[in-house]
Amino acid sequence: MKKERIGLFGGTFNPVHEGHIKVAEIVQQRAQLDKILFIPSYEPPHKGSADMAPAVHRLAMVKLALEPYPKFEASSIEIEEKGKSYSIITLQKIKKIYPKARIFFIVGVDAFLEIDTWKDYEEVLTQCFFIVVSRPDYCLKDAMNVLNGKYMKNMYGVSGNEKLNESKLSLYTIFLLPIQALEISSSAIRAKIRTGKFIKNLVSPAVEAYIREYNLYTW
Ligand code: ATP
Ligand code: MG
Repeated sequence: MKKERIGLFGGTFNPVHEGHIKVAEIVQQRAQLDKILFIPSYEPPHKGSADMAPAVHRLAMVKLALEPYPKFEASSIEIEEKGKSYSIITLQKIKKIYPKARIFFIVGVDAFLEIDTWKDYEEVLTQCFFIVVSRPDYCLKDAMNVLNGKYMKNMYGVSGNEKLNESKLSLYTIFLLPIQALEISSSAIRAKIRTGKFIKNLVSPAVEAYIREYNLYTW
């Protein structure tokens, strides 16, 4: 029997947008994940917090955005920690909750290229699977040279409509998945709101309504 597969999609989600949803939809299908947890970070270690919406708002928006998707779930695991969020800690907690599952970290290539700034990144890299997806303005192949190519032998470039079967998982741990990523970022959305521009179609209608209701990102 196939082991349960859980995806972990971390980020600031400030706010969650349609680009995130698109990534999760494609990865869920291609990696045959049973569930994807969207995990907003409490206080990201590598970002300034000037225009960071409070964690409760970011989590509430993720919950709203995920309502239509039964396989996607908002997780408050990092927010409850109430300190800086570290993937290694999150991973250890998730492994306790799902001791038998295969765990997949889902990251955009921009985030993966900065993995050497993560706490205990070698441990994270060796204790779970990674699915690295493309993102506009970044080259997915650059992922191969991360950490001076140390992990290149563990990497597999997923092609066409290929699905990740068990035999691939026994040979590789990091999967580079080219996708038709959307040209959307939370920072661009925040900039639009600040300057009074339209954000329709960039976030879900429920998230847009929430942003308006609480006047987020207008400061
Ligand atoms: P910001 O502009 O504030 O950094 P963001 O749009 O990059 O926001 P994050 O919360 O930083 O969103 O990203 C969470 C994860 O989602 C990261 O792994 C990032 O690479 C990925 N990601 C975000 N937007 C996209 C996108 N449009 N296509 C592919 N991956 C994305
Ligand atoms: Mg980002």
